[in-house]
Amino acid sequence: MPKGSESGLVRLPAFGCRSYHVGRCLYEEQLNPGLNTAWRCGVQARWEAVYDDFLTRAENFSLDETELGRLWRLRFERLAEEPVNCPDFEPALVDTLPECRHLFVDICLLRLPVCTGHCVNYRLHTKA
Ligand code: SF4
Ligand code: SF4
Repeated sequence: MPKGSESGLVRLPAFGCRSYHVGRCLYEEQLNPGLNTAWRCGVQARWEAVYDDFLTRAENFSLDETELGRLWRLRFERLAEEPVNCPDFEPALVDTLPECRHLFVDICLLRLPVCTGHCVNYRLHTKA
């Protein structure tokens, strides 16, 4: 029996599907953006936790927004200079931090389901 098919049928490739991205399926994420937190980039999630902690601590001081922003920029610069704490990190030239080839907006592509071929949710990508 051909690989990837229990019925003996081989699925067509999903190229052109609007949920297809580098071999992964974004369908569920597109339906409920942000709902599955397990798909988030772990490095970005950690940075957010650090930011939340920073805000909590900052509440104890009466800082105005300008000072708060300045302090966070300094804190984040140090954070971003640290080695990326992710075993799957692969450096790439992208606009978003961390500069990882597996990052898609705030999603880690490695955590998304693999597209196994043309399925019932296949929808042709249309130009805007
Ligand atoms: S064909 Fe199906 S599994 Fe593949 S990306 Fe599209 S919706 Fe996802
Ligand atoms: S592989 Fe890249 S995108 Fe995925 S969690 Fe690690 S740093 Fe984030």
